[in-house]
Amino acid sequence: MPPRGALTPGQLGLLTSLYIVAALNGAFWTRLLADVQPAAFGDWLFVLAFAVALVALLNAALSVAAVPFVLKPLAAGLVLLSAFAAYFIDEFGTAIDANMIRNVLETDAHEAGEFLTGPFLAFVILLGVVPAGLIVIAPVRWPTLPKALSANSARILISSSLAGALVLSFYASFASTIRESRDLLFALVPSNFIVALAKYGTQHHAPHTLRRFGEDAHRDDIKTASGRPLVTILVVGETARSANFSLNGYARETNPRLSHTDNILSFKQASSCGTDTAHSVPCMFSGIGQEKFTVADAAGQENLLHILRRAGLDVLWRDNQSGCKGVCKDVATELLIKRRDASHDGEASYDEVLLDGLEDRIAAMKHGGLIVLHMMGSHGPAYFKRVPASFARFQPTCQSAQLSRCTGEQIVNSYDNTILYTDHVLAELIKILGAVEAKGIDTAMIYVSDHGESLGEKGLYLHGMPRALAPREQTHIPFIIWISHATQARLRVSMECLQELAATVGASHDNLFHMVFGMFAIRTHLYDPRLDLLHRCGARRESPT
Ligand SMILES: [Zn+2]
Repeated sequence: MPPRGALTPGQLGLLTSLYIVAALNGAFWTRLLADVQPAAFGDWLFVLAFAVALVALLNAALSVAAVPFVLKPLAAGLVLLSAFAAYFIDEFGTAIDANMIRNVLETDAHEAGEFLTGPFLAFVILLGVVPAGLIVIAPVRWPTLPKALSANSARILISSSLAGALVLSFYASFASTIRESRDLLFALVPSNFIVALAKYGTQHHAPHTLRRFGEDAHRDDIKTASGRPLVTILVVGETARSANFSLNGYARETNPRLSHTDNILSFKQASSCGTDTAHSVPCMFSGIGQEKFTVADAAGQENLLHILRRAGLDVLWRDNQSGCKGVCKDVATELLIKRRDASHDGEASYDEVLLDGLEDRIAAMKHGGLIVLHMMGSHGPAYFKRVPASFARFQPTCQSAQLSRCTGEQIVNSYDNTILYTDHVLAELIKILGAVEAKGIDTAMIYVSDHGESLGEKGLYLHGMPRALAPREQTHIPFIIWISHATQARLRVSMECLQELAATVGASHDNLFHMVFGMFAIRTHLYDPRLDLLHRCGARRESPT
């Protein structure tokens, strides 16, 4: 006999639905109220109808699963995941979509550790673990199977009819609100992460062998007969946004070294392919182009690195982050983030680690090649952990991963310190390249960030908004090139022309693929000289045949 006061499965489902809609959707309700701005009675009625329709829909869905051994784990799991999602949305204004799920699942333990703050744990335990536990221990009166089936069917019918009737009654309001504010649905728990998980699941498959791409690639030997190898260092930045680079007009001196370095070009109007690492990094190497790019297509196919190697160049990926997101599959890779010695404060692995032994790696590339340095850059929310103490120049800083604990000024200071440190790392890199130049190796550096960052503008933090909705802060990226004098001569590019181009041209991640081909005089049908920004300023490369 179940104890007195036991719940029916229907009651448990309804309570769970009410709890999720009311307690774990703070961001959704805030955004809805901001959009609707209810003034008249009818507006409030619409908001109420929205709430009731959501509870009814969730209740209908749970009624489908209202059988023993299914309902409780499902309801408890839903509450727990909803609490996680709610925390991230409330705290960072993050939109939950397939890219976000990919980022969460592909984040390493070190990065994830930064999110495990006291407030995070308190939120998830109080609003997730405790209610989920209550669901698990709640006494339930299970009816016989025939009774359960008819009761479930009745609840499904009644709940979905109620939701349908409400939507129809307020159709104009529903339609305009959802159409006007597409990001509203990304804030709605739990549908946001269920849809995102499903999308991620269908996109995610790890192929064993890569589809060949750019098979016709070869070096144009006649035109590279200077005798000197060319080694290009491609620095993939992290979360650096263009607006905070003084090279690009930021009022604060965040690039004291690069702005006094010769032969620097900064493409001031550059945009990223995506708004998160897991999308942007594969995209910039893929050669597929932002328009058609999908993570799944790129994961199954060779990219810039494989094509360069086929053409006879050496390729090396050095990583101070959570990995190359599949880009360096089958490519020589050095993971430097695990090296935590005393010089890195025992915990953080500062980006200068990427320069350790770099000169030897370059010298070893007898036929020239590409070295990718994947930075930790400005990875948030713990910006303060990215820089050695001597670079925490802008004060006061935010000494917490809990951005809501800090003022806007502290957050920006901490972020600007990461840009200041990146400036230092790039300048040190250029110094190394200058030294290598004297040993008979031509050198160039390309620095491009994977995406930008929101620092509180429009109430948003971090990054990862769907590309179409993303604010400029998340997509406007630094794209900086340094070309040695010898390499300028080798490529026959005019720096004056490039400086003019860099000030105005709308560059993007799509340019990278073609620019690197152009630098190495790679012949392939994939090369598009129109996208090779160096070619536009007299680079010797002619249209491929
Ligand atoms: Zn990133």
